[in-house]
Order: sequence, then structure tokens, then C-alpha cells
Amino acid sequence: MPKARAPKRIAPAALPGGPEREGDPFGLDLMDVPAALAESRAEAPPEAAPAPPAWRMAEPAYEDRFAPGERVGILPLGALDRLLDYKASAEGLAPGAFVEVPLGPRQIVGIVWGPGTGEVPEARLRPVTRVLDAPPLRAPMREFLGRAADYTLTPLPAMVRLATRAPGLTEGQAMRHVYRMGPREIGRMTDARTRVLAVLRDHPEMSFTLGELAGMAGVGTAVIKGLVQQGAVLEAEAARDRPYPVLDLDAKGVSLTPDQMLAAAALRIGAEARSYNTTLLKGVTGSGKTEVYLEAVAETLRQGRQALVLLPEIALTGAFLARVEHRFGAPAAEWHSGMTQTERRRLWRMTATGGASLVVGARSALFLPFRDLGLVVVDEEHDTSYKQEDGVLYNARDMAVLRASIEKSQVILASATPCLESWHNAEIGKYARLTLPARVGLAVLPTVKAVDMRLEDIARGNWVSPTLANAVAHRLEREEQSLLFINRRGYAPVTLCRSCGHQLGCPHCDARLVEHRFMRRLMCHQCGETQPMPIACPDCGAEGKLSPVGPGVERLAEEVASLFPTARTAVLSSDLYGSAKSLKEAIEQIADGAADIIIGTQLVAKGHNFPKLTLAGVIDADLGLYGSDLRAAERTFALMRQVSGRAGRADAPGEAMLQTYQPHHPVIQAILRGDDEGFWRAEADGRRMAGMPPFSRLAGIVLSSEDAQDAMDKAVEMARNKEPLAKIGAEVWGPAPAPIARVRGRHRVRLLVKADRGAPLQDAIARWAAQFRFPSDLRLTIDIDPQSFM
Ligand code: ADP
Ligand code: ZN
Repeated sequence: MPKARAPKRIAPAALPGGPEREGDPFGLDLMDVPAALAESRAEAPPEAAPAPPAWRMAEPAYEDRFAPGERVGILPLGALDRLLDYKASAEGLAPGAFVEVPLGPRQIVGIVWGPGTGEVPEARLRPVTRVLDAPPLRAPMREFLGRAADYTLTPLPAMVRLATRAPGLTEGQAMRHVYRMGPREIGRMTDARTRVLAVLRDHPEMSFTLGELAGMAGVGTAVIKGLVQQGAVLEAEAARDRPYPVLDLDAKGVSLTPDQMLAAAALRIGAEARSYNTTLLKGVTGSGKTEVYLEAVAETLRQGRQALVLLPEIALTGAFLARVEHRFGAPAAEWHSGMTQTERRRLWRMTATGGASLVVGARSALFLPFRDLGLVVVDEEHDTSYKQEDGVLYNARDMAVLRASIEKSQVILASATPCLESWHNAEIGKYARLTLPARVGLAVLPTVKAVDMRLEDIARGNWVSPTLANAVAHRLEREEQSLLFINRRGYAPVTLCRSCGHQLGCPHCDARLVEHRFMRRLMCHQCGETQPMPIACPDCGAEGKLSPVGPGVERLAEEVASLFPTARTAVLSSDLYGSAKSLKEAIEQIADGAADIIIGTQLVAKGHNFPKLTLAGVIDADLGLYGSDLRAAERTFALMRQVSGRAGRADAPGEAMLQTYQPHHPVIQAILRGDDEGFWRAEADGRRMAGMPPFSRLAGIVLSSEDAQDAMDKAVEMARNKEPLAKIGAEVWGPAPAPIARVRGRHRVRLLVKADRGAPLQDAIARWAAQFRFPSDLRLTIDIDPQSFM
């Protein structure tokens, strides 16, 4: 089945009062919503509800209920991409309600999406079986999901699944048993018992269900029940879903600098406006962006609305939660992949009912069913992890803007190095722009120098130049921290047989296997395949001839250890930590000064605060300057800026050194001059001349199959029959084998579609794709506004 669908088959959520959408208020060329809005419905008195608990927010928008017996369109929560008609039950139905309906002999769960389609004759309409005890999905949320599905050419049910990924969603309010540390010591300890008690001791604030506790401790449930009998573990009844602690909005933050005050005032006005607006908050690392947007959070909460802060990296949430607690006396609610099922469910319900006012999370938090979302902050907005690259392909930054435009709320995009699209939108006035020009206190931006590697005397297989090594030695003497940055995980990117020249590659992908010496294995960074390091070359059989080529973070660590044998080093690479929690702890210890030299991958570029750091050395500034990628220069610029911005946050001035073989490259030059605006202007001019985004729009099309010829044949057929695209003036480039031509045994062929900014791209692509048949082995992926061209 093709992923594409005719985008307008399902009418999106009906909006009460159905205001006409005024043009395109935000920077996206989103498709128009079909005007299936605003049919007046039969008046039905709302059900007499019990008095709401005090923490519940007032209903922000009122939606008419469907009258008893009225025809409604139900969206099944399965794969079926269409509305099914039923009639409302005797007490009527709330739009957005989760319901059970009969489908053939079965009962399925669905959502009351809007009025029925009229496809089923009146006489055959079956009634909704029952309404489930879950907060209904509000109209703005349904509209958001509908428009996000249309924008990304995703079947609506797949999009809705992003918003309903909470376990036990439809089970209703209930009590449950939870387990905590008990009062009694017990005599006979076993390994299993010790593990259970250790988990409870490590998480005093959590209450686990039996399954969660057993899972985390790696024991059977009987062990826990035994401990309960002996009084070492307490079993208690708890409401499944409790509201989160209330933040103290009157607590005082730091006293802001004049620049910060101006920015905070502008953002507060944005929050008071209760209308859609987006602001690019630009400021170097350490200029106080977080401090300033917390003021907007406070104002939003004062308005009785909710706020969401998106972070690019789970490891950053710890520091952020601490900041929030420090500022408001209680932490924010967290949403990310490392949460327990119970916490997910609780947060889902609490965002829907108002029991969570400030949420911090990864990109998927944007799909939480907030009751009244007043503010979305996208911190480090340039970060590539905001684009989800598998499953539903969406960019959380753009979707935040879409959601805010529907919810009438504010968006703050915070970054020292915004992406070109955001910079451009601020430049042409679509976004407001606030700039924090200086670092707080005495901290000044680091001086940035290029180390011209052509002039350095450096041995083969070594990567730290004498100039950089010298600078590190100075830091060691002064007991300051240095950071050496290399954006490559593992020991060496290539393993070569010195006898026959063979390079070790992944059996399933067109990718080299990367040696991870720490794990003593070879690993494919595409598919995750690992295998032990062979002794003999798999090609020629020669033994002892396999040798590493090129640097990875582990190999750099080895070199640093031999250069500075007495220094304490720490390697920060995502694959070296078993869990988000252990990574978080490592980062906190390093920030406290537990290491003299930090060796890290791009993980360190993501906004961590290391106050004792005064030197940032970039091992290979040229890596990434060239790529098949439209955004190579922009990303290199952002990464180098972020890394060099890590140095000198406190009162010691910082220094950044970029090792490069091309000190005259325009990107390197712009970084050296500290000339961001110059860089963006040049980059924007280049894109304009090439007719590339944001001055045009792209869609990446990938066809994949186990059979290379099948994929190529279909791509050729698609490229030849492009009338729907030609009609809107779009060009089709390709087909060509993708840069990574095989992943997990599937061959990949790419096409690229380019259209004018104003052209109805999604509509044309849907028509185009609908012309072709896709046998089951052939998979079509459509990526609107692609970030990756691999
Ligand atoms: P950014 O988000 O731009 O990197 P932060 O808001 O994290 O900057 O601020 C960097 C550091 O400076 C933080 O420790 C923050 O508490 C502190 N800080 C920011 N503004 C002020 C201020 N006006 N007075 C005192 N400390 C401040
Ligand atoms: Zn692989």
C-alpha cells in the first residue's frame, strides 16, 4: 500500500463557530482546510457533570454535543483511513469522545471525529456502544491532527496514534496498587531482594506498579510479594492519575539584565495576547534565553493556560527540571521515551484535564492533548532531532507553529544558531525577533582561532595538533576544563585489511562497520547490526592485518590518554551510557569538575552547561563541510558555534580552536569572524540563487524494495508519469540510488520533487502517487520538507 492518500478524503475536525481561516498566518504553506466547518447542530443540553476538582481548568472552547441519535463520523483507532458512520447514543455524544462501536462481529475503539459522511443509509446506522472514560480530544487538537496529516501526507489514523500513545487510555479512572519502601528491615537477603530494595531506594519519589518494579529490578513478582509480607515493601492504593505539583508563579527569578527585561516584556505581551504569534529568540549560549522564556511560561500559566517546552535531547531534561524547580518551587512534568507506562498515562490525562500546567519533553510531547496550550517553546530549535525520520515524518518545530496557530498560542524558537528557515522567516517579518546580544555577567564569548593543519607537525594516526595540545596543557596547569570535540562515535570509522585493501562492511546495508573498541564489537550505524571483531580478513583470510583508519571519539580518547597520562578524561558519547539516567549523571559530574578533559561527540553541543570549561577544540572542523546535503554548511556552522560556545561560561574567558585544512572556507571564515548575520545572509543568497528552500519547496520520495530492480523500475515509471506534478510547475529529479543505497537489506531509490513556494505540493503529490500500484514488497515514503537526503 502506498503511504500517500488523497489528502482531503477525511473532513477535519468541525470547529464550533467555524471561523474562516485567515490566509496562512504562519511560515508554512499548509494546505487549506476544506470548509466542512460549522454546521449548526441540534441543541442538546450538556450532561449534568459532577463538580470538577479545583485543579481542573475551565473549558476554553465550547463544542456542541451531538444530539441523541444524530449521525456521527467515527475515526477508528486502527489502520482504517476513513470515517465510519454511527448514531449517537441516547445521552448524546461529545465531539472528540473516545467510544466503542460495533464493526462486524467485533467492538472497536474510535474517536467521535465530526459529523457523519452520509455513506451508510439511515436505516442501517448502528448506535455507538459506549463512551469510554477518557477526556475527549478537543476540536483544536482534532484540527491539528487533521492538518498535520494532510501536510505530511500521513494517513490520519497514523497521525492520531501519535496523540493517543498512552497505555490504558481508554480504561478509565481507577485505583491501583503501588509499591514503596517499607519500614521493616529483613534478615534474609537474596540478590533479587537486594535489587528490589535498591530500585526503591534510588527512586524515593516514585510509586511503581508491581509490573514496573519487577521489570526495573529484573525479578519475578513473587519476590516483591514476599517482601510485602515481611514489611520491607509497602503496598498501597493510589489513584492512577494525580495532578502534578502546582508551580509558584510569584516566586522571584534572577534579576534580569536590561536586554533580558526587554525580551521578557515582549514575550509576556505575546502571552497576554492570546493569539497566535511566533518569536525567534536568538542569543549566544549563556545569554539567558532560558531565564527569559521562563518569564513567558510564568505569564502563560498566570493566564490559566498551559505551556510546553521542547528539548532536543533527553539528557537535557534533568538540568531543565532543576531550573524550573529552582524558579517555581516545583518541577515541570516530563514526557519522553524513558518514562514508565504509568507516568505516560498520568501525564496524558493530566494534560487533557489541566492537572499538568508545564510540560517539558521530547518532540512527541507536541502530540499531548493539552486542554489549553498557550505556549510552545522549541529550545535549540535548529537541532536536527526535531525531525522525526521514521514512521510519521514530521518536523516538531514546524508542527509546533501549526498547532499554535490553531490553539491561538505563542511559539518561542530559541537558539544561538537558528536554522536558515527560521532566520529567513524572522528576516521577512513572519516571525518576531528578539536578540540577547551578550553573555550574562563577566563571561565573554570565546575567541575563535583556526589551527591550520597543513602547517602542523603531526604523526600519522594522531589527530591532536601540537598547537591544540599546548592549549590543553595550559588548561591542565590552571585546573580548567578542556573539551575536544569529534562528531564520530566509536573507535574508527573504517577498518581496512592491509593485505588486500578490503573494508569491513555491513551485510545488510551499504555502510561500513564502525569499530567500537569499548564494546569490543563492530557496529553498523545504519541498522545497528553488531558482530565481534574478526581476527582474519573475511575477504582474503590474512590474519592480524585489520587496522583502523580515521578517528572516532574512542580513538581520540586513547590519544589524549597518551598525551596527558595524568589528566582525568571523560568520554561523552551517547552509545557509552546504558540509559538516559546514567548519561545525565555523567554530565552532572563532569559539570562539577570530575574531568579535566572532556572528549565528546555532538552530544556535548546540545546546550549542556560546563562552568569550568575554558577551551573547546574541534578535531575536524572540515567534517561535514561537504556533503550531498543542502544544509551541510548550515549544520557545520551551528555545530562549530555551539561547541565553541561551550567554553568560558563563568568568569574565565574561553578559547575555541578549529583544526582545519581549509582555513579560508567561507563557513570557517564566518565562524572565525563571529559574523553570524553575514553567514546567514550568504547562505540565504546561495539558496535563493539555486532556487532551494526556503525559496522553494522540496519533497523527498524514496522507493525501497528487497529487489533493486523493482525499486528502480517503479521510480522510473513515477518519473515518467508526472502530469499532476507538471501541472503545478513542479520539477522531478532522479531517480537515482539513494546515497545510502541499501538499509536492512532493502534497496533504496530516490526522487526529489521541487515546487514553487505557493504551489499546492501535497495535493499534487497525492494525485501523482495515486496513479501507481505498489506491490506489497515495494514501499513508498514521502518526506515533505526533507532534512536528510540520505
Ligand atoms: P541560555 O539559555 O541562553 O544558554 P541561560 O538562561 O541558561 O542561557 O543562562 C545561562 C546562565 O546564566 C544560567 O546559569 C542562568 O541562571 C544565568 N543567568 C542568566 N541570566 C541571569 C541574570 N540576569 N542574572 C544572573 N544569572 C543569570
Ligand atoms: Zn547495517
